Amino acid sequence: MDKVAVFGSFVVDLMARSPHLPVPGETVKGSMFKMGPGGKGFNQCVAAKKAGADVTMITKVGNDSFANVLLDTMKELDMSQDYIFVNNSTETGIALITVDESTSQNEIIIVPGACNTITAEEVASVESIISRSEYVLLQLEVNQDANEMVAELANKYNCKVVLNTAPYVPVTDDFLSKCYMVTPNEVEAEAVTGIKVTNFDSAKRAAKFFRNKGVIDIVITLGDRGVFVSTHGREEIIPAYKVNVVDTTGAGDAFNGGLITSLAEGKNLLEAARFANALAALSVQKMGTTPSMPSRKEIETFLS
Ligand code: ATP
Repeated sequence: MDKVAVFGSFVVDLMARSPHLPVPGETVKGSMFKMGPGGKGFNQCVAAKKAGADVTMITKVGNDSFANVLLDTMKELDMSQDYIFVNNSTETGIALITVDESTSQNEIIIVPGACNTITAEEVASVESIISRSEYVLLQLEVNQDANEMVAELANKYNCKVVLNTAPYVPVTDDFLSKCYMVTPNEVEAEAVTGIKVTNFDSAKRAAKFFRNKGVIDIVITLGDRGVFVSTHGREEIIPAYKVNVVDTTGAGDAFNGGLITSLAEGKNLLEAARFANALAALSVQKMGTTPSMPSRKEIETFLS
């Protein structure tokens, strides 16, 4: 049985560092350029795969050389390429990331490209993998009608939908009612619920909002403060691990990949959140997104 499916984005990250960020009309000579795999969907899938999950990625790329960044990484990580769709007329998605090396501030333009064009026929063709999965992990970076169709399909087969509400876009009550679990960060929790999440009480109120929409389990990530968890009448904040932070980019992706891995292994949500905290704590100690996702061995060593 394939335990986990990730239905989501793939983009190529194009990162440049320069002494300062250019103002409109200015050209700045940069000091470093790096290209690599990205997109919340793929980052979370890599986190889950490296953590030991039996996970399948479903995404879409263009018919171009950037697609090879996905395929080469999948080969390296021994991931199935059976559910990678191709759009012949739209390019593979990209994220243009520029970083000011003196302040570490960044500017990002993301163009989801092909992964924003997933069709109803393509969703229908993933029915077999969804029907065999225990969990499907969604984000909000692909075209939302495709996410809605996947959620519908998942409900039909009792495959639990876990929605990472990132990056925030408005979602319907009907869509939320099809989600078993949501995993917003504080900003997204506020955007969806209208409740500013600043402490345990406000997190509880935000969780109640989601529960009233039909969501069963609620996880709100709180950055270096850890994570608020609401599951079957139990609510608590599980603190983050204290580590030397190098780069928090992708912490949320590491967390979601870890959470789904542990849930698929049969752990309860509180245990899964601790495992996910560990994964995220390891990831923030390294630069980048997919390269910073820890292996199962690193996670076990950290937790021992
Ligand atoms: P990002 O957008 O940077 O990927 P996010 O906003 O989606 O992250 P956060 O709530 O910032 O998500 O972080 C997710 C999880 O990562 C937290 O719940 C925590 O477990 C871990 N984490 C984040 N920042 C730190 C930190 N400074 N130290 C330890 N753990 C951290």
